[in-house]
Amino acid sequence: MNTQSNPPEPSFRESVDMMFNRAVALMDLAPGLEEKIRVCNATYTVRFGVRLRGDIHTFTGYRSVHSEHMEPVKGGLRFAPSVHQDEVEALAALMTYKCALVEAPFGGSKGGLRINPRDWEDHELELITRRFAYELIKRDLINPAQNVPAPDMGTGEREMAWIADQFKRMNTTDINGAACVTGKPTNAGGIAGRVEATGRGVQYALQEFFRHPEDIAMANLSGSLKGKRVIVQGLGNVGYHAAKFLSEEDGSLITGIIERDGALHDERGLNVEAVREWILKHGGVAGYPDANHHMDGGALLEEDCDILIPAALEGVINLSNADRIKAPLIIEAANGPITAGADDILRDNGCVIIPDMYANAGGVTVSYFEWVKNLSHIRFGRMQRRAEESRHQLVIDELERLSADKDLGWELSPNFKDRYLRGAGELELVRSGLDDTMRAAYQAMRQVWHARSDVQDLRTAAYLVSIRKVADSYRAKGL
Ligand code: GLU
Repeated sequence: MNTQSNPPEPSFRESVDMMFNRAVALMDLAPGLEEKIRVCNATYTVRFGVRLRGDIHTFTGYRSVHSEHMEPVKGGLRFAPSVHQDEVEALAALMTYKCALVEAPFGGSKGGLRINPRDWEDHELELITRRFAYELIKRDLINPAQNVPAPDMGTGEREMAWIADQFKRMNTTDINGAACVTGKPTNAGGIAGRVEATGRGVQYALQEFFRHPEDIAMANLSGSLKGKRVIVQGLGNVGYHAAKFLSEEDGSLITGIIERDGALHDERGLNVEAVREWILKHGGVAGYPDANHHMDGGALLEEDCDILIPAALEGVINLSNADRIKAPLIIEAANGPITAGADDILRDNGCVIIPDMYANAGGVTVSYFEWVKNLSHIRFGRMQRRAEESRHQLVIDELERLSADKDLGWELSPNFKDRYLRGAGELELVRSGLDDTMRAAYQAMRQVWHARSDVQDLRTAAYLVSIRKVADSYRAKGL
């Protein structure tokens, strides 16, 4: 423990600023521009009352706009009792860098409502969400051209559908109204693959990392994702999908799952689907029959493993536990799970960190696709799919004709035929676009990581790439 000797933990916002400062110190930005990029442009606080259960209840919400170098600005809406201005601003700043890094053409924003969604019935939550949305819509803080929210902790498709509907009620003639929010259900203007997107992005990020032997060696690892022991903190939407895909498709072993009420540990690998079902049914991991249960979930963060995936709250790896973390590779599926001080300690200990602004950018990337889909008013693949299938059919027919004519005895395997013939639908296209985005962004980061002797880690590299893009875009505007 080094809590005594270290300075106090900075706030989330300060932590993000410290990481930003470390990166800009390596750049040649004009000081004015540096400051312009760092600061949050505006944070709107709203307090509104909703009559519920015979009483007026007052709620506090925020929408923070960090950077408008591109518009609309983009970022989720979080519903949690812990929401406060510092957090929303830190998250908005991360959105700016995240969007720049993955080339989603947005500025950064974030919102939050201080509420525990579990305290309210569904119909009450709908009233609260619609009222919050109303407050933001009337100030253009939700608008397809200016500010486009999305799901975050405590919100999902349902809330996004309410918000989209609220916008349409208030803007009946706006033909692009559906693009005012992303992460909607597919039957309300959403896109296939958005729910899984952030977890899928974590998987693609790891797959790309493991394509580079030099990078694998930096984490003192070898081989591929197959057989790697993974501990996941938080089996919410992001953690669940990441763990599911890594175990089902890449052969990784999910040896630990940490939840609010404790943790499960099994070196042979946990069944992610079964654990998820248990949590949904029982509200936590306690009592799950097929694994060791630890009451102190946090202790499992420090357990031996190959890859640690914090996929829950910010600040979970901090000055109090950083020096006991054994994982040689951490991928930040959550936003800000490692504080600036902990980041220094982990780096000194040789741990490789795949930073949040890259690792969890899958969500906003697919949000971008959804926004484009809404503005183009057509599902991806609708025009091409059957044309693609007909062309593939031509090849198959020709191969079969040749085989018959020349008596070659070739027989195409049914599996190959099925897979080759199938034209790409929306889900395949979304995954392809996401995979391409995650690969390209990783390559941009690693290029800086390896090319510059003054850049020791992927986080600094990520900041350098994204700040450069934001700066270029301000400069192009004449600022
Ligand atoms: N809330 C998610 C994030 O932190 C998604 C944002 C979005 O899709 O706009 O990246």
